[in-house]
Amino acid sequence: MSVITIERKVLEKNDQVAAGNRRMFAERGIFVLNLVSSPGSGKTSILEKTFEDLRDAMKMAVIEGDVQTDLDAQRVSRYGVPVVQIVTLGGCHLEANLVRDALEKLDLTGVELLFIENVGNLVCPSGYDLGEAMKVVVLSTTEGDDKPLKYPAMIRNSSVLLINKIDLIPYVPCDLDTLRNNALKINPGLKIFEISCVTGEGISAWCDWLKKKETPAR
Ligand code: MG
Ligand code: ZN
Repeated sequence: MSVITIERKVLEKNDQVAAGNRRMFAERGIFVLNLVSSPGSGKTSILEKTFEDLRDAMKMAVIEGDVQTDLDAQRVSRYGVPVVQIVTLGGCHLEANLVRDALEKLDLTGVELLFIENVGNLVCPSGYDLGEAMKVVVLSTTEGDDKPLKYPAMIRNSSVLLINKIDLIPYVPCDLDTLRNNALKINPGLKIFEISCVTGEGISAWCDWLKKKETPAR
């Protein structure tokens, strides 16, 4: 029981800091997306494609969360987007205080859209509010079509599902209808985009939607 109590206190404290982050984002008019997925599903590649598509349309910034290395920050910095890397040194999710501290190192002047790339993990990032407008969960076709059923909290707490690597559909045992239906069973309000960072399919639909800065009802 004591473990449960400590966990609840940690989450309560996190929610308070997240509320502060959210107020700051609202004051500055910054639309913030918390990008969550398992490792290797393509979060950083999606960011690269998004920056290519949107960099003339709006000013963006990114907070990269990783257990180790600043490799992802190096990748996105090539697009001229302000970036700060959080290295969690083993921590398996981002918390609101880490984001608050990272924001102090980020030049947010004129930034309209901020991406927070969470640590690759489909479990605990679902429980940690960072102050974002919404969570965007990425599932790639190589992970199979059963993942929404196995990680329901992440699907329930997300507003958007990006199904990535659709170019691999002919080669992997993943049925797109099954994947979509499994996700919608858990969260009927989920907005779904099917994309490929290799062929570019679906990227412009995703980016056109981002420009509207809508938060789907949950
Ligand atoms: Mg990454
Ligand atoms: Zn964790």
